[in-house]
Amino acid sequence: MGQDGLSKKTRLIRAGAKTEARLRTVGPPLQRGSTVLLANARALYDSRDTYGRLGLSMQTALAEAIAELEGAAGARLFPSGLAAATSALLALLQGGDEVLAVNCIYGPTRRFCDGLLKGYGVSTRYFSADLSPEALLEMAGPATRLILLESPGSLTFEIQDVPAIAALARQRGILTAIDNTWGAGLLFDALGHGVDLSIQALTKYVGGHSDVFMGSIASNDAGILAKLDRFLCDTGIAVSPDDACLMLRGLRTLETRLHRHGENALAVASWLDAQPQVRRVLCPALPGAPGHALWKRDFTGINGLFGVVLQPGSPLAVEAFIDALTLFGLGFSWGGFESLAIHCDPQLKHAPDRPDQGGPLVRLHVGLEDPADLIADLGQALAAYQARL
Ligand SMILES: *Cc1c(COP(=O)(O)O)cnc(C)c1O
Repeated sequence: MGQDGLSKKTRLIRAGAKTEARLRTVGPPLQRGSTVLLANARALYDSRDTYGRLGLSMQTALAEAIAELEGAAGARLFPSGLAAATSALLALLQGGDEVLAVNCIYGPTRRFCDGLLKGYGVSTRYFSADLSPEALLEMAGPATRLILLESPGSLTFEIQDVPAIAALARQRGILTAIDNTWGAGLLFDALGHGVDLSIQALTKYVGGHSDVFMGSIASNDAGILAKLDRFLCDTGIAVSPDDACLMLRGLRTLETRLHRHGENALAVASWLDAQPQVRRVLCPALPGAPGHALWKRDFTGINGLFGVVLQPGSPLAVEAFIDALTLFGLGFSWGGFESLAIHCDPQLKHAPDRPDQGGPLVRLHVGLEDPADLIADLGQALAAYQARL
């Protein structure tokens, strides 16, 4: 029995549970919690913040930081980039609505549109990334509710005229959403260019270390943010404070890392562009590359991700190229500190409406290694490709 008359059993349940932070640290306190303790009986039913699922200190701090990054009135968090993209569509659309989506949209988002979303009565039509904004809006019908963009496009890096599309869509009362993962909130100001929703896989550059999943949606529209809140509340989708902590840590060095990724990528892409085994490099910063003029007008830089179209060769030769690489990991995703490579043709086979590149497509993510070492590695891998032609 203690002085307070409570038994040791009870005191152990109550011990060490003071919640006010004792010292100030550089970052926000990491609160883990499902239950939120309210002040009194009335507050149990009067307050908005009554349950941990709706977000604690770390998730709130991260959402505020993402809003800052995107220049948005608000941002909401989702457990992955794909969850952010699919949630945007589920939260804003209903049966009978139609989406017009660019055909270079991230593959799993397209799979969702053609499967689950279609099952809920929302149809999707695809348009070519080089369709003019006027022709795109001519495609829109009375059911068209949202235009889904991704610029540059997944795997093939097509740049769309986002401000023109957003302006024309707004006149027609059609929402625009963009998968802004490539721009990472720094290279392309999606909301500033008139888009209603900017979606990011924070998993990529904001996390930056290939060790955590998360997605975000940022918007300046209070009605859209309210619908996202309703959706999060009704579906129970939430992110963990520990993951939010990792994301916030990544965000601190985002600008520095992205700058170096871009410098390294430009060095590697320019070198590749001059190699005889390379047909063309799909990196919008290279003069003459597809989308270069729009990129120059709308973007402030590049990241580490671009495509390489090889001179025509067999799938076996492409495998020989990929297998010869020693400094590039073979794996999906990107945005971490390390270099990665994948061959893309098996994926592009599933989207016959996408343009033929005239040769095998390899996607590289250039990491923070010394670009001279990466170039040497690519040089010997191109020789292995050549040997199999
Ligand atoms: C990776 C990626 C996503 C999905 O992000 P996850 O966090 O892996 O679900 C969405 N869009 C683009 C463009 C991506 O590259």
